[in-house]
Amino acid sequence: MHYTVYLVVMTGIIAVVTLVSVPSLFARKCPGCGKRNRVDARRCRACGAELPPDDL
Ligand SMILES: [Zn+2]
Repeated sequence: MHYTVYLVVMTGIIAVVTLVSVPSLFARKCPGCGKRNRVDARRCRACGAELPPDDL
């Protein structure tokens, strides 16, 4: 019983840590001004520069 709760909590913590430590998966950095944009953005919301399709 408690082991299941522990597993769920640990999985949640790992998920949160992953989300926080890998921002490049969720934000696209502008090559022009460095502003972070949504990962699905095509153009920088700050300077309007075209964002590269792949940030890796
Ligand atoms: Zn920009």
